[in-house]
Amino acid sequence: MGNGRQDFKTDAAHALADTALQKALQNVKRGFVVKREAARAKLPEFDTLREDARAIKDHTLSHLDLYLETYERKVAESGGSVHYAPTAADARAIILKLCQEAGAKLVTKGKSMVSEEIGLNAHLQAAKIEVVETDLGEYIVQLRGERPSHIIAPGIHLNKETIEADFRRAHHRLPRERRLDQAQYLVAEARKVLREKFLAADVGITGANLLIAETGSSVIVTNEGNGDLTSTLPRTHIVIASIEKIVPTLEDACTILRLLARSATGQEITTYTTFATGPRRDRDPDGPSAYHVVLLDNGRSEMLGNEFADMLRCIRCGACLNHCPVYGAIGGHAYGSVYPGPMGAVLTPQLQGIDRARDLPNASSFCGRCEAVCPMDIPLPDMMRTWRERDFARGNPPFSERLFLKMWAYAAKRPLVYHALANAIVLFMARRAGARGRLSRLPLAKAWTGTRDLPAPQGRTFHSLYTRARRRGRV
Ligand code: SF4
Repeated sequence: MGNGRQDFKTDAAHALADTALQKALQNVKRGFVVKREAARAKLPEFDTLREDARAIKDHTLSHLDLYLETYERKVAESGGSVHYAPTAADARAIILKLCQEAGAKLVTKGKSMVSEEIGLNAHLQAAKIEVVETDLGEYIVQLRGERPSHIIAPGIHLNKETIEADFRRAHHRLPRERRLDQAQYLVAEARKVLREKFLAADVGITGANLLIAETGSSVIVTNEGNGDLTSTLPRTHIVIASIEKIVPTLEDACTILRLLARSATGQEITTYTTFATGPRRDRDPDGPSAYHVVLLDNGRSEMLGNEFADMLRCIRCGACLNHCPVYGAIGGHAYGSVYPGPMGAVLTPQLQGIDRARDLPNASSFCGRCEAVCPMDIPLPDMMRTWRERDFARGNPPFSERLFLKMWAYAAKRPLVYHALANAIVLFMARRAGARGRLSRLPLAKAWTGTRDLPAPQGRTFHSLYTRARRRGRV
């Protein structure tokens, strides 16, 4: 999991001043947002599917023990094994043991946010096992020693020139005069380098977008085919997934898959949707000889019974990140967590504790776009508000903020005081704005009005205008 840095504001300020990052972030708005809307518009039953998907997940989560047992039984019937990992440390230890039992020197990995959450790569590498990410974006951020900046587009913060420099540094044995100035050359080089890794790997580790109780299958969606090569070529395939990924049936999985790609990338379906069910059978032409699923809890069971249970419906589509004005302004790294954006602002405090991650639920304008676009209908702003309340109850906000909120609460509960104060403030703001009609560098709001003007109020509060109009019989 992330390091829970306390310098979110500093990192956000650096991100805002980073012109290359700002340019790269435009791709989120121009690409994902526009494509998602087009895909949604082409599917009249999108909202019905959303209701169905929500019902599937709510039902599954309320019978999670039952479906996990069924899933485990089905995996065993197909020749695989399920391992339960209550904590991140347990998951790391189980996977390391499985790799060591397989005599692994080289492990290839498909994209998995859960493996980022548990810090898997560093753990395996500390045990002298080479780990190679095979999703192109993940491969690039691994070369750079970074974490992904987006849950479905790990290298969205990078441009071609940066990646060319990374490839020249990392692939220094290749001819210096080769061309890498266009995306197609970069992709071809990554493919060539990774192909050797696919063929030499002893163990392949993938995540899972869904787990199906009815069949004991794990499902991954990719656009590069790297997940298939990771899961079928090595002798051992290990799936690492969190417990809430389970759905009862194949049909349920298909309902959610119809929403996933549309919400994520605006595709009707991803290029590859791969179902893995146990190791290779006698009649199969290929596949691993050993198949393991590591099921991670890491605080999810606790969420089942608290105010954040809705978050367990998340299918990691990234739509809430793509539509979030805060993520769109600062990118993913400033969040200091594996999970950025609105979904991360809810999930990270649960995983790290609100004291360490208090900045994240506070980094929201509560515009509500995240909830509006979420295919699983997750009330993200409500849950961020709950975290803010807990944060306040623990006395974490600075003294000035707590004092201001206490004063506001005092006034808000006393209508006469509230209206008198509101009228005085509105009058003060209107006078200060003068003929220009706009305010800048307001006391108590310098950070907000330092970079943008605030239109001045009209001189009276809405309430007083409404009361006067009512007295005159106009409303
Ligand atoms: S919270 Fe909703 S929109 Fe965000 S990643 Fe999860 S499913 Fe997608």
